[in-house]
Amino acid sequence: MKERGLLIVLSGPSGVGKGTVRKEIFSQKDTNLYYSISMTTRKPREGEVDGIDYFFKSREEFEDLIERRKLLEWAEYVGNYYGTPIDYVEESLQSGKDVMLEIEVQGALQVREAFPEGLFIFLAPPSLSELKNRIQTRGTETEELINNRMTVAKEELEMMDAYDYVVENDKVELACERIKAIVVAEHCKRERVANRYKQMLEVE
Ligand code: 5GP
Repeated sequence: MKERGLLIVLSGPSGVGKGTVRKEIFSQKDTNLYYSISMTTRKPREGEVDGIDYFFKSREEFEDLIERRKLLEWAEYVGNYYGTPIDYVEESLQSGKDVMLEIEVQGALQVREAFPEGLFIFLAPPSLSELKNRIQTRGTETEELINNRMTVAKEELEMMDAYDYVVENDKVELACERIKAIVVAEHCKRERVANRYKQMLEVE
């Protein structure tokens, strides 16, 4: 039996650069991952192509997919629906392919419920580490500004709890390298490797 592929979920707070990092990963020739194209009810932006960037759907079509349980997860984000078609993910994993989802945090939590064995990567804004420096540079920022930053940072830190790895998006290329390294490491996990050897021995 072929070993199941990995389900990799790339998520993180809005504005952190998930889309940019994901596009960079998939533009690299040595990337051996499959991207799960999402469905959305938002209108295509200039240059976006149906079936490549998203599957663009009407609200009725989307709600029908929800009802027929055709989505692994879905969320309403800034007035539009976004969701992951379940069949592509299931079929790809079954045939041993590693599939990556790039989704917002509510959706990632739903996937965690359905696929606890997935690889959950939280893309973090560089401001989290910068924050400390800024706070230490006393006198240059108002107390209110610092407090606001602390609140945002705290919320972002709490979101991290549901993830296996945190990748700081300080530089897109570096974030991509880290994500790829995590995927390689995951394939070397003892549990996965031991299973493969066990199966080999059973065949003998
Ligand atoms: P945008 O409209 O800028 O392409 O995407 C808006 C947000 O929706 C981004 O944070 C993106 O990661 C998220 N997103 C894209 N596809 C999906 C999906 O299938 N499910 C969920 N939950 N979020 C998605």
